[in-house]
Amino acid sequence: MVDNRVNPTSNMKLLLYNQVDGRCPFCGKNLHYVKNQIQTLLEIAHIYPANPKSHEAELLKDVPRLSEDVNSMENLIVACRDCHKKFDHPRTAEDYYRWYDLKKELMLNDEAKSAFFDNNVEEDIIKVMDSLLKIECESDLVQLSLSALKLDEKINKENSFIFRKKIRDQVVDYYPMVREQFNELDAISPYQFEKIATQVKGCYLTLIKINENQEAVFRMLVAWLDEKTGKISSLACEIIISFFIQNCEVFS
Ligand SMILES: [Zn+2]
Repeated sequence: MVDNRVNPTSNMKLLLYNQVDGRCPFCGKNLHYVKNQIQTLLEIAHIYPANPKSHEAELLKDVPRLSEDVNSMENLIVACRDCHKKFDHPRTAEDYYRWYDLKKELMLNDEAKSAFFDNNVEEDIIKVMDSLLKIECESDLVQLSLSALKLDEKINKENSFIFRKKIRDQVVDYYPMVREQFNELDAISPYQFEKIATQVKGCYLTLIKINENQEAVFRMLVAWLDEKTGKISSLACEIIISFFIQNCEVFS
């Protein structure tokens, strides 16, 4: 009989191990222990069997598959030895559906995680920063009308006047332009602005938990964005964070 099994590459093993955060997704057991050196207990299981026996093929003839290729990442899952063994012996359609559903959930999780660390997001912020750095004179800018300013309700009065004025000036001078740049990005890749805004908000929420001082949080957000965008211009980063204050992702 032909053996369809292909050994997963070490990169595939790493991704599969990460996908379950180093624990068996079925019983929660740690998949490694230390005895002299790090030992692993993990096994890589095929959700749809690589070489189904005839009665197994019959049992699973109507089930949905995660991939037509039994050796693809979609059909593989890391589990502990015990859970793997129980899954394979005896094979049941009920267990198949349980593993299928769990793997689907793990893949959705991966998608959510990678959306958060999407590199394109940084590239797009850099495009907006570049357009700020290319401004040549005052007349390139359209000021935001003062009646549209929403800063008073966001930046509390305990902050210094100079800090409040800096944010206010940046919003008035640059908000319309940054908004337009983000609109242009969205026209090319839909929801891109939403992705960026979600990242900024996520970072803000993490920082405000450790420090309630708005000026300090502003500084940390600028440093974070500056780091993420390869330290092109911390002034442009300030302008972008100020944009997100007016736009309600920060200090709201
Ligand atoms: Zn287990």
